[in-house]
Amino acid sequence: MTDAPAIRPPLSFAAPPPALSLVEWAESNIVFGARQPSAYKGPWRASVAPYMRGIMDALDKPSTRLVVVEAGAQTGKTTLAYVWLARAMACSPGPALFVYPSEDLARAASARRIQPLFEDSPALAALIPKDRKAGWQYLSYDLVNGGAVAGVGANSPAQISSRPVRYLLLDEVDKFPGEKSDEADAVSLALQRTKAFWNSQTLMLSTPTTPTGAIHSAYMRGSRRAYEIPCPACGAWFAPAWKTCVKWPDGQPGLAALVCPQCGQSFTEAGRRAAVGAGRWSDPLPDAEPGVESFRVPGILAPWADLPALARKFIRAAHEPDKLRDFINSDLGEPFVPADARVSGTQLEGRAADYPDCSPRWKDEDGAGGVDSNYVTFGGVDVQKGYMVVVMRQFRRSDAASAQVWRGQLHAWAELDELMAETNCEACCVDCRYRSDEVYDAALSIAGVWPVVGVAGFRVPALYEQRTVDIDEGKRGQGRGRTVQVLVANSNALLDMLADRIAARHGAPQWEIPRAALGDIDYCSQMTAMYRANGVWVNPNKLAEHFMDAEKLALLAAEYAGVRPPLDGVTEDSDENQEQETEEQEQ
Ligand SMILES: [Zn+2]
Repeated sequence: MTDAPAIRPPLSFAAPPPALSLVEWAESNIVFGARQPSAYKGPWRASVAPYMRGIMDALDKPSTRLVVVEAGAQTGKTTLAYVWLARAMACSPGPALFVYPSEDLARAASARRIQPLFEDSPALAALIPKDRKAGWQYLSYDLVNGGAVAGVGANSPAQISSRPVRYLLLDEVDKFPGEKSDEADAVSLALQRTKAFWNSQTLMLSTPTTPTGAIHSAYMRGSRRAYEIPCPACGAWFAPAWKTCVKWPDGQPGLAALVCPQCGQSFTEAGRRAAVGAGRWSDPLPDAEPGVESFRVPGILAPWADLPALARKFIRAAHEPDKLRDFINSDLGEPFVPADARVSGTQLEGRAADYPDCSPRWKDEDGAGGVDSNYVTFGGVDVQKGYMVVVMRQFRRSDAASAQVWRGQLHAWAELDELMAETNCEACCVDCRYRSDEVYDAALSIAGVWPVVGVAGFRVPALYEQRTVDIDEGKRGQGRGRTVQVLVANSNALLDMLADRIAARHGAPQWEIPRAALGDIDYCSQMTAMYRANGVWVNPNKLAEHFMDAEKLALLAAEYAGVRPPLDGVTEDSDENQEQETEEQEQ
């Protein structure tokens, strides 16, 4: 017997070394040295910004042609771009181009970020030619393995349209020069250059500007993935958004925290980071263009995001459109929608009805001259220094249709008391932000005076909540312990409700003014002073808006008294749930 030859697998059966994913490769090879201005210093770790994993996995797929990242300013997106570029140069070299809004910015990125990254990471340093002068300039560097990186400014179209490129990085595309010139825009020119490579890949990044800006448009073409995190309390997964998930007690932005929109549980800072670490990207939307993966990274996901600081910034910005725009674009990473709603003069005209000014719209139907139980009047009072701006509005109980039956100025609380009696007014919501003590006193002495604190922003209840205020608190010697009920109202939601009624939108109840009100310049200018941008009502020109506030408060009084439009096909029992759902959808 002869010994059978040992059976050995043919060489070709030997498994090739497993290819490292982009995340694995970066963790073993990327080092951010002392020169880097980023928060990452040291070996790169995916755990620092966990949401980057899914984006990097998308870049690993050969089928991915374009990756779009619409993100807040401090989310680590640029670092991701350089890591991607470095891996491409080290593992499958080819010509790469990075495009910045201007040549100066491209030079700065190259000198401060990209070249130091190559020099400080050992695996990449080995690719730098010995004789650096030959090919290691700021905006063009060749590597010993055939890789070649070049940078240009989007303001020099001629430079963009020279050589073909396999890897294209477009950073801050929303700041690229606009379509002013006859030249094709920089993004299209650069994308043209990738056509020569069947396996080209493009990474497009930016903080957004508007919904029609380059990054948001590109985002909408792709898979539109959102980053979802789990709530440790109720287990719900949700994509954190500023509007619905960042809250703080009124007047205390320092306590701003992430809040679960399902159960209301607020996260500690450590809890927020842990939840981001445990997060996942949503599934791609089915109508995505093949090969286009798009991701949105809200600024509030960043591990170093400081929610109290953001809340303070938001409060400062809420009434200044430029600051608000910057906050929404850079800090939140959302496109800014200018004036998505406003009350127009035309809409007001459409609501004018023929009945005498400052008189009842609907007369007693029984003709007896008494109080008709089908109708009830509510008022809104905006308190100013030295006077009050007042609107009285008659409501039909069955459907909350309403008509203005008085508007004007009053100077004393006794006058308000009289007017309420004359107009059969059941209750008035009175703004108590200024002259609060007077308003509280009025609330104690006049039946149906309801103090209201309007708060703007998203940190408030869906529409209002009731709070008991001890009005003698802190007053020495008095100690009478008197309390009043104050309504804390969501001004934004009330203005939405008012604007819907004036525009006769979303099946809103009928809302009328007497035709004579159209000739009242104060009324008309104040009713049209504000507009809504990204869901927030703003008054950029600081115009008077007293009548708008008074009308808004009259709606609140009716709402609080339970005079609301009927809900179609809903039983009494489920009214409350239905209402909550509607309010949530509107947020
Ligand atoms: Zn929850």
